[in-house]
Amino acid sequence: MGLKRFFTMHKCRLCGAESSSVWSVKDAKIAETLVIFMCNTCALVQQANLPTDEELHIYYSHNYREEYKSTHQPKPKYVHRAGKAALDRLARMRKAGISPGAALLDIGAGGGEFVYMAQQAGFESRGVEPHQGYSEFARDEYGVKIDTCQISDIEHKGFGVVTMFHVLEHLAHPTQVMIKVHQMLKEGGYFVVEVPNITQKDASPHNIYFKAHLFYYSRPSLIAAASPYFDQVYVEDEGNLFIVFKRKDHVLQGLLTPSLVDIKGVTKRLDEKGWREYLFKGGGLTKVFTRIPKALNEHKIKHMRSKAILDQIHKLPNF
Ligand SMILES: [Zn+2]
Repeated sequence: MGLKRFFTMHKCRLCGAESSSVWSVKDAKIAETLVIFMCNTCALVQQANLPTDEELHIYYSHNYREEYKSTHQPKPKYVHRAGKAALDRLARMRKAGISPGAALLDIGAGGGEFVYMAQQAGFESRGVEPHQGYSEFARDEYGVKIDTCQISDIEHKGFGVVTMFHVLEHLAHPTQVMIKVHQMLKEGGYFVVEVPNITQKDASPHNIYFKAHLFYYSRPSLIAAASPYFDQVYVEDEGNLFIVFKRKDHVLQGLLTPSLVDIKGVTKRLDEKGWREYLFKGGGLTKVFTRIPKALNEHKIKHMRSKAILDQIHKLPNF
């Protein structure tokens, strides 16, 4: 990334340690300063100057989806992608030993695709989503239960499963999230998390560090973040990081920090990131070709209703 890392004393938002290394000082998407450091104790990569809670609230209840996908409601091609992703996540959950039938809460439910697909798969599912337009759309289109609210507003408890897909990296207080999810789950319940993986090879250098992602998790740092409240029972970290955690009956007092070998491993991966790796190892060169059949498929569904798109997906084998 053109910057040699240097050591600093930024305080880690997760473990509180002050020994850190700065990895980047600019936003990959816009011409603005963005200081990103890695905590040398828990390996969590994070923004140095987080927005305030108020700023984040306004951003996610109104602006976020528009800025990223230029729409107030999900377009058919996004519904299609989200439906396929939901199918894949449900299959992984089954592999991890989670059986349908449980009460499930999806946090950051977006347009409601996962909540609907989970319901079709036999879960008693509901969701929460801060964005007004998306949550309304989900309720109208699929008839699913989605509350328009923040995590801190959730009052329901006793869930067997809580899911959070590509949400945790946007949240400023990871420990508070863990505590809240632990309280919402019943004994033996599962917390299913998927986040972008900072150690994966196919992240384009232009997409690595940008302001919407406050934290950049890796297997060691996510497991450390969850460690006082959850045990990991299923981990996939080849592409995105997908971990199924099981609720601990007895909460630990402090974090279990990663081993030195794990911390060195994350450091090494950050060091290797750049265009060279993306093009030659991460599949950057082949990506453009795999996009064509995908675009053709998406063209076919252009005029379909969202519910019909998801109904078609859940009829696929494997569901
Ligand atoms: Zn730390």
